[in-house]
Amino acid sequence: MVYIDKQDEFHADFNGITVVCPHCVVHSHLTASGVPRFEMLMRQKPKHVGIAFRCDYCGEPVFLKFLARSYAAQRIELAASYVEIERAREEFALTYLPLDTEQLFREALACYSAGCFRAFSAMCRQTAQSVFREMGESGKLKLFDTLQDVRKLAEIDEETFNAVRNVIFGADSCPWPLQPEIDALRASVLLEVMKDLLYQAFVRKSKLLQAMAVRRYLASSDHSAVPEE
Ligand SMILES: [Zn+2]
Repeated sequence: MVYIDKQDEFHADFNGITVVCPHCVVHSHLTASGVPRFEMLMRQKPKHVGIAFRCDYCGEPVFLKFLARSYAAQRIELAASYVEIERAREEFALTYLPLDTEQLFREALACYSAGCFRAFSAMCRQTAQSVFREMGESGKLKLFDTLQDVRKLAEIDEETFNAVRNVIFGADSCPWPLQPEIDALRASVLLEVMKDLLYQAFVRKSKLLQAMAVRRYLASSDHSAVPEE
């Protein structure tokens, strides 16, 4: 149970509140540092309660918004789920992607960071379409195999897998491309799968080519130092 008591103290069961900190990007426990006064909340009974926390790892502030479930004489009960006002930005080696794909996936990441999961999955599909355009039919089949591998490696359950597969490989003509629905959990799986697919499709190859270019450069002359990037 999550609540604020009469002494203005914030309480959360189990392990308290943990999030991916938007500052240090570590999955960290939060300590309440700015709790609204009980008395004032009781007077105004707002629908939502905003609380300031401190990241236990880096000490920077993190703000969460809770739905107020009930106002009682001894405690103000809050919903266990909350909205992160500022989410950690998702990073990816975007520079290795073709321009088209890069722009689409950048927008997908922004949607994810904003917690707009339907928009995120729509942008993931567009990103996937651009990858298929780039790689052709054989590339598409290869990525489908990669997705199967990810499924086995990550032990993704069937419904989540179907949701992710439908986003990435579903037909454009399908009127309901985003079924089963993408919630926060599925979106996080979709994100990891997309990163993996993009890595397989572009990043790995680019890095290999780069490494080989360096090797050729070193072999072609008696340069002993790696050239500056
Ligand atoms: Zn932190």
